[in-house]
Amino acid sequence: MSSHKTHADLAEQFNKAPERVAWHDDTLWFVRQKRDNAARGVEDWEILRETASKIKENVLSRLDDYLMEFEARALENGIQVHWAKDAAEHNAIVYSIFQKHGVERAVKSKSMLTEECHLNDYLQQQGVEIIDSDLGERIVQLAEEPPSHIVLPAIHKKKEEVGELFHRHLGSAKGEKDAKVLTETARQHLREVFLSRKIALTGVNFAIAETGEFVVCTNEGNADMGAHLADVHIACMGIEKIIPKREHLGVFLRLLARSATGQPITTYSSHFKKPRKGQEMHLVLVDNGRSSRLGEESFRNSLKCIRCGACMNTCPVYRRSGGHSYHTAIAGPIGSILAPNMDRKQFADLPFASTLCGSCTHVCPVKINIHEQLYQWRQVLVQEGHVDKGKQLSMQAMKVVLSSPALFKLSGKAGRKVMSLAPFALNHRLNPWYKQREMPKVPTSSFEEWYRKNRKKDE
Ligand code: SF4
Repeated sequence: MSSHKTHADLAEQFNKAPERVAWHDDTLWFVRQKRDNAARGVEDWEILRETASKIKENVLSRLDDYLMEFEARALENGIQVHWAKDAAEHNAIVYSIFQKHGVERAVKSKSMLTEECHLNDYLQQQGVEIIDSDLGERIVQLAEEPPSHIVLPAIHKKKEEVGELFHRHLGSAKGEKDAKVLTETARQHLREVFLSRKIALTGVNFAIAETGEFVVCTNEGNADMGAHLADVHIACMGIEKIIPKREHLGVFLRLLARSATGQPITTYSSHFKKPRKGQEMHLVLVDNGRSSRLGEESFRNSLKCIRCGACMNTCPVYRRSGGHSYHTAIAGPIGSILAPNMDRKQFADLPFASTLCGSCTHVCPVKINIHEQLYQWRQVLVQEGHVDKGKQLSMQAMKVVLSSPALFKLSGKAGRKVMSLAPFALNHRLNPWYKQREMPKVPTSSFEEWYRKNRKKDE
């Protein structure tokens, strides 16, 4: 385990404001309930999930073919296609397009891939200014924070905090917290940005192999505003975003919005097929660890993810620990199975930040077995020595105790004695287990002893 702050450390910080925790928890649970209602409104919801899962299964089994087909069609359409093996290559490709056009300012709609690649930071270091145009993304950008949720990036922020940020950066009235007024302030500010930027960056939700087109889903229309007004459109996508045919899109669009926010459809599902006259369109296809994940049987189907965020909204740990506690671009259950693939040591804590209740798997629209993968990751990380020494030693000790009935009984007796005579030996500041818990009442006997005694009584 590396020396950075772990999920537990960061969750402890988040939990220092219980009011915020309760409100964060309630808000995300509300979104989860909206998702449930929307899913119940589709008679064949389970068939839809199964179909989506199978389409993605097929994509993953022939990903190279579909990518080549997509590239060929996209080139025919006049799109300039680039391939990036990792985040560094992706960032360098994007920057080279800026250099070619001598541009130092751009507008960007929401893209988790660019978050994963830390594109904003990289471009800033090169002297390029990026303005995020998604409202939630703009809020966290002004706050100099990463997004805390993949669909609702500023869900951890209260409207009073947004009001303060807008007052400081966008000139709204001090103390303004009316959501409509704040949204209008952002709208006016972004309008000027859209009209003055020569380059627009977007993400990609789906890339269709048979046509070479890609689809970007937003609720605010900000991707369209940016891309349609700019001379150069750069779209960045992970290589797993491919779907084979246009007819498959309906399956995913019906699932995506309902799972994300409970809407029947995302407000804008924009198709980009070719650059308009005089415009340049670039598409950067990024691997960044995806092909190695494809080769790992136990974890490959995490590549089916369509980034709806439903697994985060339902997760009891995410809702009460906040997205920043995951210290990676994609938080929550899906982030916890994606991140260790990138860096086992740095993200070894994340698969343990779960109750393994399975709620994430239950809501996932593409049927990823998230909680099973969390459990599998734990085994891999322990076997490879990535968990801290204390945990490794205590697990080895448990193994010895649990494989010997005599030792198990003896240690139970000893434990009960220590807990009743010297509770401070366990319940102290250095034992993280007791930070949020009270010492349970110590039983006088083991369950086995109780059972033997009581069974005799009944006979
Ligand atoms: S893992 Fe499933 S539920 Fe979670 S974001 Fe991805 S598609 Fe949505």
